[in-house]
This record gives sequence, structure tokens and C-alpha cells, in this order.
Amino acid sequence: MVQTLLSLWLSITMLTVTPINDLINKSIQLDKSTVTIEAEVIGEVLERGDYAWINVNDKSNAIGVYLPIEMTKELTKFGDYNNIGDTVRVTGYFTRNCVEHGGELDIHATSITIIKKGAVTEHTLSKWKLSIALIFGTIAGLGYFTELLFLKKKKKKDEEAE
Ligand SMILES: [Zn+2]
Repeated sequence: MVQTLLSLWLSITMLTVTPINDLINKSIQLDKSTVTIEAEVIGEVLERGDYAWINVNDKSNAIGVYLPIEMTKELTKFGDYNNIGDTVRVTGYFTRNCVEHGGELDIHATSITIIKKGAVTEHTLSKWKLSIALIFGTIAGLGYFTELLFLKKKKKKDEEAE
């Protein structure tokens, strides 16, 4: 209840979204303050016991967000070559020199909301290329395998001949 009220209060009062690049450029001024960012979740959840790290990127820059692991459960898509990650609004405590994490510049999230679900990236051309590569790869693989078999047989024959 307290947490719900707190996050409600935060979502009302902290709606100024700061570009991640501003956090980095103005890290001295914004150090140890509550900030809100909106960014795409990229990579994967890195579990650290009851907590976790996620990486977010808002195209201006990227930052590590530290948060309770339950808060990552809602996340469905993580940005990589094949996926566009969920876009989240993260509110949390920003430090340029986190004592808990070896002097990292990070955000300890107090709330995270998915504002846009991620999606699978369409690589029409790449898919086509991939199929071709796969076909050639299979042919090459088969060729290699056949050659191996042949060599093995030949070796056996040679051995038998001795
Ligand atoms: Zn930290």
C-alpha cells in the first residue's frame, strides 16, 4: 500500500522525463536525485539475487537500472538484433558514483511501467540472406561430412592394406 501510494505520488510529481544523455552530461547536477527516463529495454535481465540489472537505451544514450527482480517480471521483450525491447518509464534514484555498485553511474528504480510493448524486428532481406546462408551452410556441411567419411574409409583401407 505504502509502495503503491509512493509510486503514485512519484508518477504524479516526477513526470519530467530526462534524456539519458542529459543524466550523463549533467551527472554532477543531477547526482543523488530522483529522475524519470523513458527508454527501450535492451539485452537481458541480469539477476543478482532478489535484485536485477537491466540496460535501457533511449537512443540518446544507455544506462544500467538496478531494481527488485519482481519489477522485471512484466518485461516481455528485450532489444537485440531480432527484437525491439519494451519501452519503459523508469523512475528512480540516480547516482553518478554509486557506492553500492563500485562507483557506477546508475539508477535504482522505484517504479517501472511499460509504456509500449516491444516487438519482433522484421528482417525481410536478412531472412532471405539467412536462408541462402543456411542452404549453402548445409551443403558445405554435408560436403565436409562426406569428405570426413571418405577420409575415414580411406584411412581404414590404408590401414588394412598395411
Ligand atoms: Zn547502484
